[in-house]
Amino acid sequence: MTDATPDMTAIADRLALVTKGRASAPRLKEGVLTLVLDVTGLSGDQRTVMEAAVRAEMRDVPDITQVRVAMTAEKKTLRIIAVGSGKGGVGKSTLSANLAVALHRLGHKVGLVDADIYGPSQPRLMGSEGQKPTAEEKHLIPIMSRWGVPMLSMGHLVDPGQAIAWRGPMAGNALGQLLDAKWDGIDTLIVDLPPGTGDVQLSMISKHKPAGAIIVSTPQDLALIDATRAVSLFEQANVPLIGLVENMAGYICPHCGESSDPFGQGGAEAAAAHMGMPFLGRIPLTIAIRSASDAGLPPAAGEDSEAAPFLAVAQKLAEWLAR
Ligand code: ADP
Repeated sequence: MTDATPDMTAIADRLALVTKGRASAPRLKEGVLTLVLDVTGLSGDQRTVMEAAVRAEMRDVPDITQVRVAMTAEKKTLRIIAVGSGKGGVGKSTLSANLAVALHRLGHKVGLVDADIYGPSQPRLMGSEGQKPTAEEKHLIPIMSRWGVPMLSMGHLVDPGQAIAWRGPMAGNALGQLLDAKWDGIDTLIVDLPPGTGDVQLSMISKHKPAGAIIVSTPQDLALIDATRAVSLFEQANVPLIGLVENMAGYICPHCGESSDPFGQGGAEAAAAHMGMPFLGRIPLTIAIRSASDAGLPPAAGEDSEAAPFLAVAQKLAEWLAR
């Protein structure tokens, strides 16, 4: 090294040491050193401390008269997992709520969005009825449910029935607000889509592209065309299909515990295979699931036998997410 040419490698090494490898692209021009600090995951205080350390480290370098630090942070993208069904009443909302709770129990950083603008049921299912989210810098702050899953629903924003007259664009904007909230610390969002396969659903999916989709169906609905329509909705938008969940499969008698299958067994696996996607599991039809859901106590949060099938489906989803 001569006086005229400072050793940039040595400077880069010293920067790497004081920033734990977060500094990149140091450049020196006419005594001004510029560099980029990746501050992803650091608090405001930690950033200040790191910047001060950089300045202190460069203070005694003869060629440097000024240090300019640019900070960047990786923008964390949320993975949206859409839960859809061909029609209403198949338990799509029940599955969405319990899947979010079960994923949280498995250690995932998961949030829940109720995109069922016209018939929001997540506040009731998650026991957060009547709560109103606040906003910060024009972004909604999700409501923290009792089950460790932050959530947002149209039901938290407007009175029941108020959104009924909304047309497509307004519904789309409303969903945008829910998804664009401050989901700090969350990396996966379970989104309970409106039932059916109309244009509103398609434009929502195209605009807020899910990473994958889960289809919910009842055994009797499988034989019909509804589930197939839900599949083609996601195919049209190029959303990967994670798999099919069969809900209300078999009836568990609350008195004797015996399971009966009025619609037969095994049809769901066959239907999933026919539609070209994995089968994620079967949730039985039980009175306990219905009454706990109505009471705002998601069965997946408890220790009863009702939690197990939801945890099993969540485990499959976790495997898909880890791929
Ligand atoms: P969707 O979102 O598809 O319209 P919901 O999740 O609102 O359906 O469920 C419709 C009704 O069926 C609710 O009363 C719910 O408690 C009940 N339900 C859903 N899944 C089950 C199940 N596995 N066993 C018993 N009741 C269920």
